[in-house]
Amino acid sequence: MSDESLINPLTKYFNQDYPNQSQPEPGLESKLDPKPDAGEDSYQGSGQLKGRKALITGGDSGIGRATAIAYAREGADVAINYLPEEESDAQEVKTLIEKAGQKVVLIAGDLKSEAFNQKLVDQAADELGGLDILALIAGKQQAAGDITKLSTKQIKETFETNVYPIFWMVKAAMKYLKPGASIITTTSIQAYNPSPYLLDYATTKGAIRTLTQALSRQLADKGIRVNTVAPGPIWTPLQVVGGQPQASIPKFGQSKPLKRAGQPIELAPVYVFLASDKASYVTGQSYGVTGGDFTN
Ligand code: NAD
Ligand code: MG
Repeated sequence: MSDESLINPLTKYFNQDYPNQSQPEPGLESKLDPKPDAGEDSYQGSGQLKGRKALITGGDSGIGRATAIAYAREGADVAINYLPEEESDAQEVKTLIEKAGQKVVLIAGDLKSEAFNQKLVDQAADELGGLDILALIAGKQQAAGDITKLSTKQIKETFETNVYPIFWMVKAAMKYLKPGASIITTTSIQAYNPSPYLLDYATTKGAIRTLTQALSRQLADKGIRVNTVAPGPIWTPLQVVGGQPQASIPKFGQSKPLKRAGQPIELAPVYVFLASDKASYVTGQSYGVTGGDFTN
C-alpha cells in the first residue's frame, strides 16, 4: 500500500553535488546556487505565535530567514538584525513578512559592538511594542586547518560574534521579557562532534550550549524558557564564505546518514515550537536537526 503523503527525507530536498562557489563574508542568499529553501513558497502557519513580538538576529538569510518567515506566518511581528552589506537579502525578508500581514522592523548593525546590542534590543522592543521571543541565530564560521595559522583576529571575531552578543542582548532584554517569553540560541553539531578545521567556531558553539543550559536555570524562576538549536550541515551563505574548506562545497552534507545537506526550512519548525506555548515544559534543551549525527 502506498501513501502519497509520505515523503522520503533522503530525497525531499536537493541531494546532488553543489556547484563549487565562494563569496566574501558575510555572503548573500540571493547569490547562492542553488537558492536555499527558507520556506518562501511552502511554510504554512497555524497561528502558533499569534500576537508575539520576536527579535531575530541573522534574519536576512539562511536559518534566520526561514525562522523570520515562519514566525510571521505563525502570527508574530518580527524585528530582524543583519549586517549592512546584507540589506538586499533583508529587504526580501521584509517583503515576505509584510505579505504575511505582520509588522517588520529592519535593524542593520554589527553585533560585535556592545552598544549596538543594547540599541538593537531597545529599538526592537520600542517599535514592536514589547518583546516575547529572542531567536539568536547570527554567527560567524571560518575554516582554518592549521592552528599555527589561525589568526588572533579570527579567534577574537568568532567569539565576539557568536558568544558575547548573547550575554549583551539577554541582559538588555530582561526588562522586556515576561513569564512565557522564550530565548532560543543557536549552537551546532560542532559543539558535540567538532571538525578539526573549526577549532574557534566549534569552541564558541560549545560555549553557547553551556551558556544556554546555565541561563535556563537562572531564568526558570521568572517563567522564561531558554533552549538551543543544534543544526548539522545546512545550505546557507555561511558555508560558501569560508565556513567550509572550498573543496568540501560540492559534496556538502552527503556524508551524513540522510546523505544530503539540510535546508533552512527544515529548522524553522523547531524555532517555532521552542518559541510557542506548546514548549511550556521545555527549557535548557538542545534540539538537533543534523541529518542523523547525534547531539547527546
Ligand atoms: P547565514 O550566513 O545565512 O547567517 C548568519 C548570519 O549571521 C548572517 O546572515 C549575518 O546577518 C549574521 N552575522 C554574522 N556576523 C555578524 C555580525 N558581526 N553582526 C551582526 N550579524 C552578523 O548562515 P546560517 O547557516 O543560517 O547561520 C545561522 C546560524 O546557524 C549561525 O549561528 C551558525 O553558526 C548556525 N549553524 C549553521 C550551520 C550550517 O551548516 N549552515 C550548522 C550549524 C550551526
Ligand atoms: Mg546573511
